Amino acid sequence: MPRPVDSAEALSQGAFVHTFLPGRVVFGAGSLERVADEAAALGVRRALIVATNSARDAADAVEAQLKDRFAGRIDGVAQHVPTEVAENARTKAGVAEADAIIAIGGGSAVGLAKAIARTHTRRPGGLAIVAVPTTYAGSEMTPVWGETSGGSKSTGTDLKVLPRVVVYDPVLSQHLPITVTAASVANAIAHCVEAVWTPKADPITDIVAVEGLRALSAGLRAVLAESEDLDARGKLLYGACLAGSALATAGTGLHHKLCHLLGGTYGLPHAETHAAVLPQVTRINAPAVPESAARLSAALGGSTDAVGLARQLFDLFDGAGVAVKLRELGLTEEQADAAAAGFDVTGNPVVVGEDEIREILRRALDGVRP
Ligand code: NAD
Repeated sequence: MPRPVDSAEALSQGAFVHTFLPGRVVFGAGSLERVADEAAALGVRRALIVATNSARDAADAVEAQLKDRFAGRIDGVAQHVPTEVAENARTKAGVAEADAIIAIGGGSAVGLAKAIARTHTRRPGGLAIVAVPTTYAGSEMTPVWGETSGGSKSTGTDLKVLPRVVVYDPVLSQHLPITVTAASVANAIAHCVEAVWTPKADPITDIVAVEGLRALSAGLRAVLAESEDLDARGKLLYGACLAGSALATAGTGLHHKLCHLLGGTYGLPHAETHAAVLPQVTRINAPAVPESAARLSAALGGSTDAVGLARQLFDLFDGAGVAVKLRELGLTEEQADAAAAGFDVTGNPVVVGEDEIREILRRALDGVRP
């Protein structure tokens, strides 16, 4: 992973460190047909399929392709990877003597595959993950894992969980409901925006993030006009791939930490929470990275100052029908204040204490336009 350097310092010296992560991506309508061949090319002998219910047809198709390489299916995918679900899946993977997991679905399916691979010790080479995303969460491009236990979400980074191959088939997300689509795109956009201000941000992640945001916002506008537009669905997957890549190298910061706290402790839905919180964090942080903020703003089709970027994001999400109020997702004022009280963040480009966090969460609670 990239050495954590202060981005401002690195840029002033014209020096930076960027680590490209290994992995192969296969893009294209109909590429689901290539999943078993991709697994075979990795040397996979026994693959387990982890799939969300909504991706059952795709999972059936992959099961048929795998023939004698099929080792079984794991159901019960749940958001934020509850430990009891992960434990159950780990036991099944051990019994099945699998050497690979094929994850088909959104970030929750990929997350469960990562949870199995992270703790797997039976095989010296670990468990290979082949990911087939059906949402735009971007987890398939990252070595980041998450697991929730006792109301608290733990996350970490481990190359063992980075998918070896990702198959992006836009047909699989062609019928993703528009509300789920918009929220998932907001999640991916959050990866792009936050990637420009973390301590590990560098000029390469910046370019990837800006191009990701361009593709995601253009794709979102196109599917809002015609939800089954396959080209637009492809553009969204391309944006999700870039968003995940940016997250993988730049890591997370204030925004994601707040979202994980709200998801893990108060059970808020992951993707929607991003849409409500991102404009408010951007309002605080973007002035500290004005050049990147201007590039992001241009990618959204505008040309404004840093506060304008926050406003553009708010308007994009609001216009797409995603909840921009945490209150609508079930958070109360007391919970927002309690979340702010214990919150601790380091490495943010702007120094934020409890008062600033409370302000961010109160504004996100009521969806105040930046
Ligand atoms: P998800 O996987 O739970 O999917 C959201 C909803 O969409 C679910 O109800 C699912 O059944 C449905 N769905 C998925 N594909 C569908 C399809 N093709 N058609 C119809 N419905 C479909 O959630 P998500 O938003 O994709 O991912 C969120 C999770 O991913 C969170 O747990 C988050 O922490 C994690 N995540 C992890 C990373 C990482 O790098 N580790 C990055 C992003 C997100």
